[in-house]
Amino acid sequence: MVFDRYYPPHHWGSSHGGTRAIEHSFNEIDERYKPWVQETWHLWEMINQAFPSVIPLRRTGAIILLAERDSRRESIQSWGEELGVSLTVLGTRRLRSYFPDFSIPHHTVGIWEKDAGLIRVEPLIEAMVSWAETSGVSQHFGEEVQEIRMETNKVTLITSQRNYHAKHVIVTPGSGLSQFDSALPISTKRQIMFWVPANSLKLSAAVSVDVDGYSRIAFYPHGHKGVKIVADEPLPENPFGTPNVRWVSAEMIARVNHAVRPFWRGIDRAPLMRHERCTDSYTPDSHFYVGIWPKCPPIVIGAGFSGRGFKYAPLVGQWLVDLALQGNSDEDLSLFRLNRYS
Ligand SMILES: Cc1cc2nc3c(=O)[nH]c(=O)nc-3n(C[C@H](O)[C@H](O)[C@H](O)COP(=O)(O)OP(=O)(O)OC[C@H]3O[C@@H](n4cnc5c(N)ncnc54)[C@H](O)[C@@H]3O)c2cc1C
Repeated sequence: MVFDRYYPPHHWGSSHGGTRAIEHSFNEIDERYKPWVQETWHLWEMINQAFPSVIPLRRTGAIILLAERDSRRESIQSWGEELGVSLTVLGTRRLRSYFPDFSIPHHTVGIWEKDAGLIRVEPLIEAMVSWAETSGVSQHFGEEVQEIRMETNKVTLITSQRNYHAKHVIVTPGSGLSQFDSALPISTKRQIMFWVPANSLKLSAAVSVDVDGYSRIAFYPHGHKGVKIVADEPLPENPFGTPNVRWVSAEMIARVNHAVRPFWRGIDRAPLMRHERCTDSYTPDSHFYVGIWPKCPPIVIGAGFSGRGFKYAPLVGQWLVDLALQGNSDEDLSLFRLNRYS
């Protein structure tokens, strides 16, 4: 059985907005992820084969722009070498000729990963939901899980509609984690994704900008829906106090424009086609939470994916199932243990 309080794919968590970028070498924080990056890529290839009418992962390439002296440059390159991934370093002059629309600061380098890709999020989720339906999975959408109770040898789920009993439960509530375990530290980041017409900025690959003095900005080519822009500008809570993640004010849009403008002046001329909010959750050390709920072996938690949840989703899914059904995993998952802050 699967529960979601909304109807996937939906706009109320962090799995919407057209695309997610996945790379081998960018945004990694610890050497221990190296074999997992390879494994998860392998699983993504298998997902492509399993859903040939969708082909959710497309290898478009991706580039990250960093200051020349940024120490991440070396670590990205050594990851790439070790994993056998093709990376090309572009100097400021070449970057300016490839991206004439961008204001690229002096002493910036770009690292181009040819085999990076974009996942088409909503088509994949739709395909998985219909696959689950035809495979006999009982999907309870629009049904909120209000409480999970451990009783002798069984777990009781209390939902907005009724009570269910289960032998094993996997809990992956995204930013709703504190509803189930308020002792696990988690912070949420709210961001706006917005789209401008494809002809206002020609891009065929994802470009992320992480240069000193700029907000982190990512530009994603997004087919007929235009170019998507996400600026790492944390947004304030909704003053009305409701979990209405679609609430966006003119002030929020102005903040993102302000962050993007120094890098891409075209933002002032490009019509805003649409925008969506997104909520993502972070652990204090940016390592995930994957483990058995302390003292409750049939309950397993997966959360706090700290900006990299899509990339690792196929692999983490396997770990969660192993933990739930076998009570352990062949992998050493101590990096993700739930009690590391207690
Ligand atoms: C703007 C943005 C860009 C990103 N870019 C990338 C990227 O390029 N690459 C990458 O790998 N990752 C990226 N991420 C991160 C990635 O999207 C997330 O890490 C991932 O989607 C988290 O998945 P999740 O299942 O933990 O949470 P969610 O996607 O939020 O899913 C949680 C689900 O649980 C349901 N739920 C919660 N509470 C209850 C309840 N009580 N009862 C029933 N259902 C409940 C929710 O409705 C929701 O469907 C990005 C995130 C954002 C916001």
